[in-house]
Amino acid sequence: MFKPNLTDLRAYDPGPSIEDIKKAYGLNRIVKLDSNENVYGASPRVAEAIAKAVLLPALYPDCRDTEVRSELSKLLGVKPEQFLFGCGLDEIIALISRALLAPGDSMVMAWPTFYEYYCHAQIEGASTKKIPCDKDGRHDLKAMFAAIDSSTKVVWICNPNNPTGTYINEKELSDFVRQVPENVAVIIDEDYIDFVTAADFPNSLRLLENHPNVLVLRTFSKSYGLASFRIGYAVGQRRLIDEIDKVRPPFNTTRLSQIAAYAALKDQEFMKECTRKNREVLAMTTAYLDEKKIPYYPSQTNFIFVKARDPKGVAEKCRKQGFLINPFQDGIRITIGKKEDMQDLLKILEQALTEASVEPTA
Ligand SMILES: *Cc1c(COP(=O)(O)O)cnc(C)c1O
Repeated sequence: MFKPNLTDLRAYDPGPSIEDIKKAYGLNRIVKLDSNENVYGASPRVAEAIAKAVLLPALYPDCRDTEVRSELSKLLGVKPEQFLFGCGLDEIIALISRALLAPGDSMVMAWPTFYEYYCHAQIEGASTKKIPCDKDGRHDLKAMFAAIDSSTKVVWICNPNNPTGTYINEKELSDFVRQVPENVAVIIDEDYIDFVTAADFPNSLRLLENHPNVLVLRTFSKSYGLASFRIGYAVGQRRLIDEIDKVRPPFNTTRLSQIAAYAALKDQEFMKECTRKNREVLAMTTAYLDEKKIPYYPSQTNFIFVKARDPKGVAEKCRKQGFLINPFQDGIRITIGKKEDMQDLLKILEQALTEASVEPTA
């Protein structure tokens, strides 16, 4: 009855609820550092705008996201027609895959990177070429380019990359994009761009001018702290945007998410203050890891990837003490929390890592 390509997929597993974890370990407080949410919340203007809004619950929302579109257009210097909005970037990733990938097609992505790219290629019956990140946790663009063949429709670039936190620079990206044939879409997921400090980070919007096959993705979920509202967007040239728009459900963002996003955009100060605090705590974190000689990838984001043996065991030990972090195959991804929380977590983490490295591996 079901598509055979669903066999190898698993539904997203959110893990046990905060309440269940509190009960299981007898904790009063949980510090959630496993999903890269904004630990400083959202601009107070968001709650104000929603409290003041005329809700119009019985009417469908504005299917063109007019106000957010026009505000973003001014902010980014891109034409209003160049945007496509979605119920989070998660939906945008699904729409791109739906519009571009069919059985027999393939896509290229890094590994590890954001899992949803793989998931939606699989749903569309397309095959995936996973190209391992290099030893520094960065996309191996040479190998990714070499993996492109006549079946390739999409290449995913997650910049900075989730979960490694590393980035590729302006020159590397523009050289790569210049090489890729125009009938292959290059999707650049810039979910964490507001946290970036590297001076040579690409200005990908400028690439859009000469490359009709490039799409840039951004979201309100991380730096603007609106993960619960589910709104994100793609920017690109009209032709690509208009084709993907054909597979978009017309009312895929809600009136409330539009109001929230607009209010958040109008408070750039709040967002910048969050990224400033993040930088400070990230620097404190790396200083600690350096001092304790704990290996990690340098991060341009609001999370950090710390290499570890037995990542699951380490995450479990942190969870017992009320800190949720995310285990991967050869390390753990930790959202950069508030200063005091990170100070506590780092001590617990050091202990857990030490225990993990002396325990015999099962
Ligand atoms: C969090 C995340 C997303 C999903 O963002 P939403 O807009 O909340 O759906 C997409 N890509 C990357 C790399 C992410 O880390």
